Amino acid sequence: MWRAAVLTLYPAMFPGVLGHALAGRALGRAWSLDARDIRAHAIDRHATVDDAPAGGGPGMVLRADVLAAALDAGGDDGRPRLLMTPRGTPLAQARIRELASGPGVVIVCGRFEGVDERVIEARGLEEVSVGDVVLSGGEAAAQLLLDACVRLLPGVMGHEASGDSESFEAPLIEHPHYTKPREFEGRSVPPELVSGDHKATARWRRLASLQATRARRPDLWAKYVASITGGVDKRRETE
Ligand code: SAH
Repeated sequence: MWRAAVLTLYPAMFPGVLGHALAGRALGRAWSLDARDIRAHAIDRHATVDDAPAGGGPGMVLRADVLAAALDAGGDDGRPRLLMTPRGTPLAQARIRELASGPGVVIVCGRFEGVDERVIEARGLEEVSVGDVVLSGGEAAAQLLLDACVRLLPGVMGHEASGDSESFEAPLIEHPHYTKPREFEGRSVPPELVSGDHKATARWRRLASLQATRARRPDLWAKYVASITGGVDKRRETE
């Protein structure tokens, strides 16, 4: 069983979105979730978890000692320990795959202005960002990360094969999708996809995936071009 522990000031926010649909059906079968209340590890009688930032400024900062106590109470069983923070390494599917193939994760959710730097160093937390946006807390970010991991666990996804053709595995974004009806407000499903010709379908999808990546994600396109040319963008030379 893949084991997730989440340290949060709002344990009632879990399982949240993960309690429904695919992840929800697999909860307790393919994976387990332990939402721990950071506040239970406060040391004073007011159960204080935060204080003013050293050096002044707005907001509050999660105390290093309280968070360390919350982490230590869970023991160290070798699971990667992650901190959700906009200062972290941007999350990518390759890291999700690694995490999903391991024993599980321990995730710390920040709140307020963030977490005292010293506990990050002292407990070796891996800092992870879900994108260049600022959330009010790490809980939604933790659920995003867990959702991405859980769907990859053995037996969770109906069509196991679908894992490989998806966005970012190539590194390309996926082709667009179509279904019924064939005509919608004057727009048709691309004929290649209803031709019954598997080769034509595959060719159309491949091309659509390349076109979308080039148009929407110059960062991924550059990686893709480098991966097939060994770093030289031949396209520039021929255009
Ligand atoms: N003052 C901080 C923002 C704190 S937001 C700054 O400017 O960097 C409060 C908490 O929300 C953070 O501690 C973190 O746990 C979570 N959070 C906010 N944005 C996030 C992001 N992009 N990725 C992961 N976690 C995020």
